[in-house]
Amino acid sequence: MTQQQEDATPPPPPRRSTPLRRALLVARTLGYTLSFFLSILSRSLAQRLCLLSHRTFGSSSSDEEPGSRNIVVVGASFAGHHAARTIAASLLPGSPYRVVVIEPHDHFHFTWVLPRFCVADGGHEHKAFIPYGPYLAAAPAGTLAWVRDRVASVGRDAVRLEGRDVELPYEFLVVATGSGAADALPSRVGADGKEEGIRRLREMQERIREAESLVVVGGGAAGVELATDAKDKYPEKKVVLVHSRDEVMHRFGPELRDAATKGLKELGVELITGDRVVGEDTERGIVTLRSGKEIPCDYLVNCVGQKPDSRIIRALSPNSISESGYILVRPTLQIQDDSLPNIYACGDVAETHVERPNARSAGNQALVAADNILLAIQGKEPKRVYKHHWVEGVTKLTLGLNKSVSYLSDGATELLFRTKEKDIALMSAHAWKQLGAKPFEETSEIMDKIAIDP
Ligand SMILES: Cc1cc2nc3c(=O)[nH]c(=O)nc-3n(C[C@H](O)[C@H](O)[C@H](O)COP(=O)(O)OP(=O)(O)OC[C@H]3O[C@@H](n4cnc5c(N)ncnc54)[C@H](O)[C@@H]3O)c2cc1C
Repeated sequence: MTQQQEDATPPPPPRRSTPLRRALLVARTLGYTLSFFLSILSRSLAQRLCLLSHRTFGSSSSDEEPGSRNIVVVGASFAGHHAARTIAASLLPGSPYRVVVIEPHDHFHFTWVLPRFCVADGGHEHKAFIPYGPYLAAAPAGTLAWVRDRVASVGRDAVRLEGRDVELPYEFLVVATGSGAADALPSRVGADGKEEGIRRLREMQERIREAESLVVVGGGAAGVELATDAKDKYPEKKVVLVHSRDEVMHRFGPELRDAATKGLKELGVELITGDRVVGEDTERGIVTLRSGKEIPCDYLVNCVGQKPDSRIIRALSPNSISESGYILVRPTLQIQDDSLPNIYACGDVAETHVERPNARSAGNQALVAADNILLAIQGKEPKRVYKHHWVEGVTKLTLGLNKSVSYLSDGATELLFRTKEKDIALMSAHAWKQLGAKPFEETSEIMDKIAIDP
């Protein structure tokens, strides 16, 4: 969540829900989920049929060298990884196009479990880093290449890499650079390699373990989860959560706000709302709030300040950047610059007017960008448009080590389920499976085949 979003006016509270409205909401959610899975199934079937027909009958031959035209995807997290897979899986072997992913991380970072692994020890940290590769198995040989690097700048027809100082030409570009946090953990890892990521998580666990008084800044999901986990694990510690708005989780409806507040209070987390940390004196071990209040603090965890990482587009097309740093996009997810119709942006970095951007909206946007590029390479108009659906906003919030709530709202009616969490690593195993990997086995088989050094 960005600072700008933290400060934004909260959405109007949903009307308190009646049983009939709740039942309708469940039915509409199930309808959406069913149609979503059917669309995935039909897409995968269409790709297989296309491949089968290509193998059986061959396809119209192209004089061009296979893989000579690049579709470059910058960033391989929830948005870029999915866009790359969707495009590559739809290209035929021998296609003049290939997808080239540029990503500095050596593993996929599963952000959802970061607050938990900042607190819970016991050797689970490695589960937040999922091997790249298995998710891309569906891409026919030659349609996908991977560069482990960072894009330093973007030109009109090439990107410059940071580590290698070389240029890589592109015909289409997908910018999926997401958002970053200056303080990194617990919102982002802040390291490219898995080993260093694990080290940082353990370092944070140790600092929390050693602190007698912990101050957590920010009452969004990361702050609430980290504060409740810390107090649950170390009931003897003083844990204070400071939030600038009147209620935690203020961008959600009243049921989730109430559940979060109750969860914090039941565990004994001290909640200070409507105030901000304005100074930290590490020598005296205190933080000062805007109200003038001073509170003891051995360790401060900052859970605010995520910002869209749009630097690489700002230099090329400054008018495509919003005041708050998002890349302005059309509904087709092409950037809002008529002179650059082949550049797309999706996920947390794109201004898509999604109230609470998340991995599901990032994935759905990736599909739209991918489909439009697939249309464009056939010489067709990129006409798929992204429209946010409230089901994308379903949220799970942990409230201590073994409790969580799941929340859904269409803006008028709310649904909240309480769940007992049995697994300290939360949904890590599920995420590995979703990305085609066997929990928790390392593999580099596919990456060894697709890695290139341009
Ligand atoms: C603590 C936490 C918990 C969350 N929990 C949930 C949840 O439960 N459910 C949910 O749906 N969402 C959740 N989210 C939100 C979700 O993680 C984000 O919406 C999602 O990560 C956005 O994906 P993205 O691909 O747009 O960007 P990001 O995940 O931010 O990834 C951007 C990628 O781009 C790469 N990159 C950046 N700059 C460059 C460059 N110059 N060159 C090459 N590569 C670059 C980065 O290395 C990174 O891999 C959570 C977020 C946080 C912080």
